[in-house]
Amino acid sequence: MTRTILITGASRGIGRAAAILCGRRGWSVGVNYAGNEQAAMATVTAVEEAGGKSIAIQGDVAIEADVIRMFEATEKAFGPITGVVNNAGIVAPGMKLADMTAERFTRMFAVNVTGAYLVARETARRMGTDRGGKGGSLVNLSSAAARLGSPNEYVDYAGSKGAIDSMTIGLSKELAPVGIRVNAIRPGLIDTDIHASGGAPDRAFRLASMVPLARPGTADEVANAILWLLSDESAYVTGALLDVSGGR
Ligand code: NAP
Repeated sequence: MTRTILITGASRGIGRAAAILCGRRGWSVGVNYAGNEQAAMATVTAVEEAGGKSIAIQGDVAIEADVIRMFEATEKAFGPITGVVNNAGIVAPGMKLADMTAERFTRMFAVNVTGAYLVARETARRMGTDRGGKGGSLVNLSSAAARLGSPNEYVDYAGSKGAIDSMTIGLSKELAPVGIRVNAIRPGLIDTDIHASGGAPDRAFRLASMVPLARPGTADEVANAILWLLSDESAYVTGALLDVSGGR
């Protein structure tokens, strides 16, 4: 059965890998991105080559009007959305909390918390059977940082992901009666561009010795878990926080 899925931050990394796996199932995917149009267009092409349909939608998840527009554009192109991957997220350079600026906190929480909550709210408004939706699955990208705390590095980021865990638990109960399952994935060290954006491109490999499976994970390995949570194969799973972290 064909499905319409919206993935935030799907131009690169984990979101891109999930979009391509959706394409392999013949699903239609709204590929949101922040600024890298070239990467977003490459994802669209890859989804189409995999057998799905796709459009790219620029938008900042921290801006309410952009979030509404990305849902509208996806539904206009492909019909009612039945799956959302709340994936867009940022880190910032590693440092102690004592050295962080208020501007850094503002942006971190605007994207990772307010952005994710706006995407979750639109999902509830559009997919809830109480509001004319068809029900479906919301998959939130948390992080192992939510339970590790990321001392000396990303205590702000870790807290932003803690909020995602709490939202997942509450919203899974709130939306179960209206046909929406809500789960979170907590990736560990995954080899994507996110580490370079925090100023440490080799971070996933440098810290690999702390991982029981002794290596970083790949975006595809996280995407496989996302696809399982989107699909009916996980029909009895809601409110789960699924670690995809090599045992860390
Ligand atoms: P990534 O490679 O850095 O890619 C980030 C994606 O998010 C890009 O597509 C980027 O778009 C988009 N994006 C950034 N800010 C945005 C905004 N304000 N609005 C809309 N889109 C935005 O990241 P990733 O490693 O795949 O991470 C994906 C998710 O997994 C994040 O929530 C992250 O916190 C979480 N996670 C990652 C790891 C890891 O080790 N990689 C571990 C735990 C959790 P542009 O291409 O346009 O910039």
